[in-house]
Amino acid sequence: MTQQIRERADRYIARTYTRFPPVMERGSGCRLWDTEGRQYTDFVAGIAVCSLGHAHPAVTAALTEQAQRLLHVSNLYYTIPQTELAQRLVAESFADRVFFGNSGAEANEAAIKLARKYFKDAGAPDRYRVISMAQSFHGRTMATLSATGQEKVRKGFDPVLPGFSFVPFNDLPALEAAMSDDVAAVMVEPVQGEGGVVCPDAGYLKGVRELCDRHGALLIFDEIQTGMGRTGRLFAYQHSAVTPDIMTLAKALANGLPIGAMLARESVAEAFGAGAHASTFGGTPVVTAAALAVVDTLTGEGFLEGVRRRSAYFRQKLDWLVDRHETAVAVRGIGLLLGLELTEAGGPIVLRCLEKGFLINCVQDTILRFVPPLIVSEPEIDALVGVLDEELD
Ligand SMILES: *Cc1c(COP(=O)(O)O)cnc(C)c1O
Repeated sequence: MTQQIRERADRYIARTYTRFPPVMERGSGCRLWDTEGRQYTDFVAGIAVCSLGHAHPAVTAALTEQAQRLLHVSNLYYTIPQTELAQRLVAESFADRVFFGNSGAEANEAAIKLARKYFKDAGAPDRYRVISMAQSFHGRTMATLSATGQEKVRKGFDPVLPGFSFVPFNDLPALEAAMSDDVAAVMVEPVQGEGGVVCPDAGYLKGVRELCDRHGALLIFDEIQTGMGRTGRLFAYQHSAVTPDIMTLAKALANGLPIGAMLARESVAEAFGAGAHASTFGGTPVVTAAALAVVDTLTGEGFLEGVRRRSAYFRQKLDWLVDRHETAVAVRGIGLLLGLELTEAGGPIVLRCLEKGFLINCVQDTILRFVPPLIVSEPEIDALVGVLDEELD
């Protein structure tokens, strides 16, 4: 049966993904089981999506309860879960309003459209350029791949959209040199995820904010990967004193149901008036009910503190690996968005971990990335580190 599924998948599904062999069937907490009954400990979590773990009871309860009432109505009508989720996200952040879509790319599309519309409405139609960072990742739609600073993502899709340019991350002089009066927004991930788990230098985000203010540009934080508790705060920007004008969320927001959200300050959000933007499924009841359960859990007593504690434990174990192995050279990241920098390609180690029952992944060839459910336990971390200790030899 398993082999047949693989063959049919390879026969009928578009070839955009290179897949590992297991056919995944069931999950609970940090564990996954495949169709052969093999168990895996999941340090990928749908790539920072299933942050409360698989089959989290509060999420399952919220979505099954909502599914029995109302799956979907058009955004022509009000619903309770969408309203409650928007109010919660506003209460927990700098923002005043939320637009809901279905994915990270859609949230970033909305952010880019809002920034351009804001300056059109303000009588500055020539301000349309978006500056983002080298090695950034903002999505796969035409606008978001145009904003993505990775050649491999844009390759083959020329011409990309005009009005996007890039500067190196953590390089304020380069950003300063790129700023001009045609810049509508600077778009940045507070920690680069796909780019290799790259943290901002001290003062960098503050410097970006100051350059935006000095040149009258908006600041967009893409918190699609870093948001929803991943870094040990609800949003990564809360580690610094810097707030953006627009923030995008997706991945972990509904623990695995598809959702994206674009949050903005009132003065900016105003530019999205009636009819300016829309999404059929955006903020639909089942998905927003699940997301509300996620927000409630993450903001519950002691939860984020627990994430920071588990992060410190995990980091210490990764540092121990760096001390013991010449091929492991540095630990990076924050919270439970952690990377282990190797001197060699990480792909073979990812495969051997899979064979030993651990899901991890690798970005930028040589950086092992760990984004487990935020509920990962110390014994689960120990077990992974034990396998890495064997495999790094
Ligand atoms: C995953 C990701 C996206 C794209 O999200 P999709 O839901 O795949 O469209 C955008 N930005 C960042 C930082 C991401 O990690």
